[in-house]
Amino acid sequence: MKRRLCDFYRAHREKFDAFLFDVDGTLSLAGSPLPGARELLAELKRDGFPYLILTNDSSLSCEEKARHQRRHGLEVDAREILSAGNALQSWAKKHYRGELFFQCGSLGDPDFAAEASIATTHDFCRLEECAGVLLGEGDYEWHASIEALFNYFLKHETAPLVVPNPDGYWPWKDFCGIGSGGVARFLELLLKEAGKKPEIVYLGKPYAPIYEAVPEKLCALYPKREFSLARIAGIGDLLSSDICGANSNGLVSILLLTGLTTEKQSREATGDLAPKFIFDAL
Ligand SMILES: [Mg+2]
Repeated sequence: MKRRLCDFYRAHREKFDAFLFDVDGTLSLAGSPLPGARELLAELKRDGFPYLILTNDSSLSCEEKARHQRRHGLEVDAREILSAGNALQSWAKKHYRGELFFQCGSLGDPDFAAEASIATTHDFCRLEECAGVLLGEGDYEWHASIEALFNYFLKHETAPLVVPNPDGYWPWKDFCGIGSGGVARFLELLLKEAGKKPEIVYLGKPYAPIYEAVPEKLCALYPKREFSLARIAGIGDLLSSDICGANSNGLVSILLLTGLTTEKQSREATGDLAPKFIFDAL
């Protein structure tokens, strides 16, 4: 018999303040909603049960991501989305001092870097003026960019490489795309060969910055509620991102076997990678 998250929710909802849903491989796959996704979100809405969509995808703004999901049949409001790109705001408050940053690729429209008031350029000719690099996503010239960044970090070892989306790859039907985390680690490997250790700042799951933004985002949406991370479930399909992030940031981890993780991998996982609960479907 299939273990379903919706049954667990109905039996245990009073034990939780909120649910955080991953998108790709959890609520949808290759743009289409997974079975039960529409029904579960509608049920939570009817119950007034708080939830957010927690996504590492920073190539689309929250407005674009919501439009994209709605076009494919999943009713999502932009205000319900917390993206790794949003975590740039808290990073900027703590670390940004008005300098120019080089930006690779896209960080959505409106742009997450602009929303965080970070001055950026895509112009290679200005790379030497930059205090660090923001690694975005989407289509951009990888060869020219990686080569330019490799040379930049050879000279500026202490400059930060800020990576909103730590994902190495992401699922799309029977195909996987390469994420900006994958590009960052490729660059890190090359620099290590050259004897350099760049400062890489990851913002999305499993890293703390995106989780630090959760209580404020929930309180803005549900002003009369109180939220404790220990009573919030982080729900997703990837052990190294959703499950490790939930466990290491004090949330309850819930794995769905609807995306990248197999039953065998879930049973063999240990430490922060081991999910507290496992379900076959929504
Ligand atoms: Mg996923």
